[in-house]
Amino acid sequence: MSEILRITDLAVSYGHIEAVKGISLTLNKGEITALVGANGAGKSTTLLAISGLLKPARGQVWLDDVDLSQLSPHKIVRSGVVQVAEGRAILTTLTIHENLELGAYTRRDKVQIAQDMDWVYSLFPVLKQRAGGLAGNLSGGEQQMLAIARALMARPRVLLLDEPSMGLAPLLVREIFRVLKEINRTGLTIFLVEQNVRQALRIAQHGYVLETGKIVLADSGENLLHNPRVIQAYMGG
Ligand code: ATP
Repeated sequence: MSEILRITDLAVSYGHIEAVKGISLTLNKGEITALVGANGAGKSTTLLAISGLLKPARGQVWLDDVDLSQLSPHKIVRSGVVQVAEGRAILTTLTIHENLELGAYTRRDKVQIAQDMDWVYSLFPVLKQRAGGLAGNLSGGEQQMLAIARALMARPRVLLLDEPSMGLAPLLVREIFRVLKEINRTGLTIFLVEQNVRQALRIAQHGYVLETGKIVLADSGENLLHNPRVIQAYMGG
């Protein structure tokens, strides 16, 4: 397995509070890697640093040989590292189809864009049914799906997700994880940040456990799922 993204000794602070305290991790190409941990562990902060929205106090984020921590958020997206916007951050006054078109704004390959549009509609049939409708009329879960679909329209090399299951009913949570697995089967590398530890580790090839800004466990998703410490701390014993 070759690596596609590597974080080395990443530290991120808010003022004098160090939220991420020098973490290192690797994403293998074509795999789902999960970063799990409790509320406030520093998961979102890690993602914001990868996306370039927060500047690290130290450390690097390598995409192949490029240090993303030196690039603007815009250039990071162009280099292929795309974070799914929070479900609510879609453009509610535009149609679903227009939101998806916007996802492809950096691209010029019209034929491929049309193919990708068909693909994301097949992943999320509910979006296809309502393609001409306003995004604002979608339910919370459907908006989350649209946010994922829009990110896919950018043709990312690495897809970043911050708690895609948050606030969703159990049935929708399952649907989102099913689709993530399906997306991964096409070879897309996924970095999944989740508090839903069990579901995340079920679909992830590798996982890291973050506690108060430090990685305390790193293993295969399968092994973490059966690790007594993980079960005790995150799966209700
Ligand atoms: P959550 O699931 O709640 O988002 P998380 O693991 O993603 O948790 P972060 O949001 O990254 O955790 O927060 C890590 C730490 O940084 C927490 O102690 C949090 O209180 C602190 N923090 C987060 N955002 C800010 C901010 N804008 N200003 C100051 N402190 C912050």
